[in-house]
Amino acid sequence: MNDPELTRGGYSIFDETLADLTYPEVEALAREGAVILWGLGVIEEHGPHLPLGTDVYLPYVTLKLARRFLDARGIKAAILPPFYWGINNVTGSFAGSITVRPETMTRLMFDVFQSLRKDGFETVFCVSGQGDALHNHTLAQATQQGRVESGIRAYFVVSSAWAERLALDTRAVHVLVYPLTPPQEPYADVHAGRGETSMVWAYYPKLVRQELLPKLEPTRLTAEDLAEWRKGWANARRKTPAGYLGDPAAADPERGRMIIETQARLVANVIAAKVESGIP
Ligand SMILES: [Zn+2]
Repeated sequence: MNDPELTRGGYSIFDETLADLTYPEVEALAREGAVILWGLGVIEEHGPHLPLGTDVYLPYVTLKLARRFLDARGIKAAILPPFYWGINNVTGSFAGSITVRPETMTRLMFDVFQSLRKDGFETVFCVSGQGDALHNHTLAQATQQGRVESGIRAYFVVSSAWAERLALDTRAVHVLVYPLTPPQEPYADVHAGRGETSMVWAYYPKLVRQELLPKLEPTRLTAEDLAEWRKGWANARRKTPAGYLGDPAAADPERGRMIIETQARLVANVIAAKVESGIP
């Protein structure tokens, strides 16, 4: 779906979210039984060529598109403004990587759940924009405990690849897995590399320092290097001194559009299946 409407709001992360609505419009959405979609990212360094908000913009635009797919299936969804004060364990040593304590993130999520519940919303689907293990474990736990605290049906919507890496209990009621096996490549491309650079380029081209791309050498890191990088802080800095892990010079916006569309469709499918099942 090459949808110019998707970027109609320019670079605003409020466009098409509750933040741009009025309270009677939100009341109407709750009355109509809309489900809430929430992207949870982080402000984090993304190499010399991508903005710190990369992990906020990407889940946000994915959910905008997912909402269109849900709408086409007759499912009403509303997007919450993205969360961006998350956890940076891996790239924490770089300037601009802002990290909060897990309990801060958890409490904030609880309070948002409670506010949504107060307004009559019953279900919230959380999608992570950031690969950091601690960020995602915190998110998973907050959705689980948030159910008890607020009475809302909170879900962590996550790919099978991430669920496996994070060792999540995929049978748990708050974990909603969609099937996604990333292509096997000889070298890792997980942070500000070809994938993320392509996606930002597709929807936010002015935020990519395109003139730098040809100068960025691929990192060519193996699975063992990646495991070391994931230990975070000084380890990550040693493995990726320039702050990216992958091959940003190979990025292209068409590929980025494809990745976002695939993810949006998978996220919408798994949410639709849950909603159509009557939601336990
Ligand atoms: Zn990222």
